[in-house]
Amino acid sequence: MFKRKAGVLWVLLVLACVTAQASAFTLPEGFVYVTDVVETAQLEIRYYGDNNFVGAPVDGYEAPVAILTEEAAAALKVAADILDEQGYYIKVFDAYRPQRAVDHFVRWAADLEDQKMKGIFYPQVDKSRLFELGYIAEKSGHTRGSVVDLTLVYKDTGEEVDMGSGFDFFGEISHHGTDLITPEQAANRSILRDAMVAAGFAPYPEEWWHYSLVGEPYPDTYFDFPVDIGAKHGGTAMDEAMARAIEQARTTMRQDIGGPFGAAVIDGEGNIVCVASNSVLRDHDPTAHAEINAIRLAGQILGTHDLTGCWIYTTAYPCPMCLSAIIWANVKQVVYGCRPEDAEEIGFRDAFIYRFIEGGQQDTSVLAISEYGREQCLTLFEEYAELQKTIY
Ligand SMILES: [Zn+2]
Repeated sequence: MFKRKAGVLWVLLVLACVTAQASAFTLPEGFVYVTDVVETAQLEIRYYGDNNFVGAPVDGYEAPVAILTEEAAAALKVAADILDEQGYYIKVFDAYRPQRAVDHFVRWAADLEDQKMKGIFYPQVDKSRLFELGYIAEKSGHTRGSVVDLTLVYKDTGEEVDMGSGFDFFGEISHHGTDLITPEQAANRSILRDAMVAAGFAPYPEEWWHYSLVGEPYPDTYFDFPVDIGAKHGGTAMDEAMARAIEQARTTMRQDIGGPFGAAVIDGEGNIVCVASNSVLRDHDPTAHAEINAIRLAGQILGTHDLTGCWIYTTAYPCPMCLSAIIWANVKQVVYGCRPEDAEEIGFRDAFIYRFIEGGQQDTSVLAISEYGREQCLTLFEEYAELQKTIY
């Protein structure tokens, strides 16, 4: 049997799978993906990447998608239609925001050492005053699901319209009615504002990009489900990914290439990047598990070692090696078919590895680990540190 009490490592390993299970298949009732309602909406979800005031992906943003309440999305569609006639598409920077993301902002604001993005987002504001000036708060209207941050792009060129200051720039230049921008920039802000107000949104005086639905459906609820593509996978994409993983596993196990295990990698848009299966026997490679093979293939196809935003679908709960590989790859969501006990039933056992880890890697009947040659090896590290200096 699998034991799930455990050391930190094991807890981390388990979390990678358990969180996926909790959130993978549904968007809460009353919420929709913006692009399912406003098909022309462009997305640049800033908190999913590192082009934001934190300078890193923000907690809870698992995919570059925008989610809103049905009511807010319907109103946004009205605004988008008005703007469409005038030659613009909307570009969404943020919509529904999980509470864990707001908590991340609060933690970031308290860390006065971290001034990494100051030059771009808050050059004139002392970071220690972000709370009192209202730029950061412990609650955000976004978390209630009916607030959207957006700008305009020209339909013909796809270029962003000049609004006089960037999204999330903390300062007076971002206020409606500021005299720090040109009349043309002010007129551009008005085009967005007029359409949004006509559609039922209220502007926010301090941020030209921020609009709240008037009469929002959940005025007192601060949601905390992640921004992800789980519900999108709930339909055919998920069925297809798992079906292809199963088919691949079936084919290769019948050819004695490996065990009955397959895995698929899906990108942030829900497209299947690749499918792979276990090839331990053919490759004489004990590490050639389905998930490892899938990660390696996806890395080659996508030209990166960083699979941030990707999901892994696997026919069985990943072993400790694969769990670690998945975490190294920055994959945040795993969906599995068979449970560990199902694999154990047919003779595949990972439990002793977990026991070894839980036991502090002390059981020499599993593995003896000893230190040797530290001085010589440390010279490598020193050389690497030197290289870093010259490269960066
Ligand atoms: Zn494995």
